[in-house]
Amino acid sequence: MQWTRSETLALAQQSCTFCYGLGLRPGRSGASTPCNCVFRAVFRACYARFRHCASKEKYISRVSLEANPGRQRKSVWGLKNEEYIADFCLVSRRTLDDYEYRIFNYHFLLGADWKLCCHKLNIDRGTFFHDVYRIQQKLGRTFRELEPHALFPLDEYFNGGGRVKPDEATPFPVKTETAPLAPVIKFPIRRAA
Ligand SMILES: [Zn+2]
Repeated sequence: MQWTRSETLALAQQSCTFCYGLGLRPGRSGASTPCNCVFRAVFRACYARFRHCASKEKYISRVSLEANPGRQRKSVWGLKNEEYIADFCLVSRRTLDDYEYRIFNYHFLLGADWKLCCHKLNIDRGTFFHDVYRIQQKLGRTFRELEPHALFPLDEYFNGGGRVKPDEATPFPVKTETAPLAPVIKFPIRRAA
């Protein structure tokens, strides 16, 4: 996939001291690359939608990481939210290393605040927030760049974007892999810090 200037500009944080709100910064090879504030914006949008989907009453107590491992990506409308929840969790598990995933799990999935996370992981506050930034950036980039079905932009994910007809769609790749063992997520999610 290709990032465009208009996309990075729209997502950039105006107060960013690295890109000054332009959303681009010089890459190692000289070409411009999206700024980390853009990746964090993508993550925040995807996470907000995840919480929205997960908080719907009918999903409470039903959703787990093992949900529907072999299900085809048939766009039955009623399953779209459920599918998104599963994609969000599985892509995150695959993208993060074990340490990062522990923080992600405690903070974003289980809703533990920074104090509880620092206590659990035996890290200080600065380390925690530094790690959270890195996790958001890593996931934001992956959510946008994932092929063939990126989680972001969300309207393309949820409305199909016209790229692939539902009947022709292939199974989502992460679902066919052997998923690493991960704790079952129990909903409802508690309020995040
Ligand atoms: Zn920036």
